[in-house]
Amino acid sequence: MESQVFCQDEFMYYLCLFINVQMPKLSLVIPVYNEEILIDQLFERTTRALNNLTSDYEIICVDDGSKDATLEKLKHYHTLEKRFKVLSLSRNFGHQAAIFAGLTYARGEFVGVMDGDLQDPPELLGEFLAKAEEGYDVVYAIRKKRKESFPKRMIYWAYYRIFKRMSNIYIPLDSGDFALMRNTVIRHLINMREQSLYIRGIRSWLGFRQIGLEYDRDRRQGGEPKYTLRKLLRLAFNGIFSFSEYPVRLISRLGLTVVLISIIYIVITLVKKYVYGDVPQGFTTLIIFISLFSGVQLVALGLIGEYMVRIYDETRRRPLFIVREEYID
Ligand code: UDP
Ligand code: MG
Repeated sequence: MESQVFCQDEFMYYLCLFINVQMPKLSLVIPVYNEEILIDQLFERTTRALNNLTSDYEIICVDDGSKDATLEKLKHYHTLEKRFKVLSLSRNFGHQAAIFAGLTYARGEFVGVMDGDLQDPPELLGEFLAKAEEGYDVVYAIRKKRKESFPKRMIYWAYYRIFKRMSNIYIPLDSGDFALMRNTVIRHLINMREQSLYIRGIRSWLGFRQIGLEYDRDRRQGGEPKYTLRKLLRLAFNGIFSFSEYPVRLISRLGLTVVLISIIYIVITLVKKYVYGDVPQGFTTLIIFISLFSGVQLVALGLIGEYMVRIYDETRRRPLFIVREEYID
């Protein structure tokens, strides 16, 4: 079953409005994957933070195919508190797809997104909401300080800066998925069913009135990070390849440079031979150049392949996620 429910498309949205289906003021989407030890804290802190803002809210926890007791715990809290809703995906689809799944179910006038490990403090949503009510359509969080290891911080720092230079849209530095968006923005966002999901990129691409708020990103409140290096790299590459043509352009520039160098080299060799009568030498040089440039060619092919794989992915238009169970009553 794919999530063709509620306000996913324009028609249903207006139908909901028309028949006055209850639309909460605030929805909060939280992806979780194997976070059993955090669920109690998560439930406690999010419900408390939201209750301080409004009683008219819903929390949509998306279980991204967890293999531990995460889903059982979430279901337990759903029985205690109906506003705490649970979606369970049919397998692990990844953080971005899990957020996307939650967004398609969210019906709130304002919709927040935050991580399930409480690195994004739910208490900040009040500030976000205040900004949104001032008239902003997207309020996103900017990480001022990260409480993470030095190498990880350096890599993040460098990535966002390289990304900024390469990408063809403006993506605010150091902003993740922690944000609050107006329902209009969400409806446009979920219409962009990109396979290589990079939500913070699409969010920025969408436009509207956006504003960033700074915050200190907390430590994970327990358990291990669920982003493996591989998943993290995939996210990073999705960002680059979805929002930049720079890598392919770089390859053609590199090719052009090599051609120029070769022409100069040919001229020098010819002059040496016919003017000075030197015999061309350099078996070693030959080997070095051949291996160097076959390497460059392979990299070039790989880069083109990277875009090609993404085209292939997009054309199949597989669903981004599949919901197995939902507890949303
Ligand atoms: N997560 C998920 N699916 C995954 C990996 C992570 O739903 O495949 C969730 C995870 O449970 C957490 C959030 O996404 O709530 C962020 O993950 P994590 O804390 O591991 O990422 P980091 O903070 O290290 O970037
Ligand atoms: Mg985290």
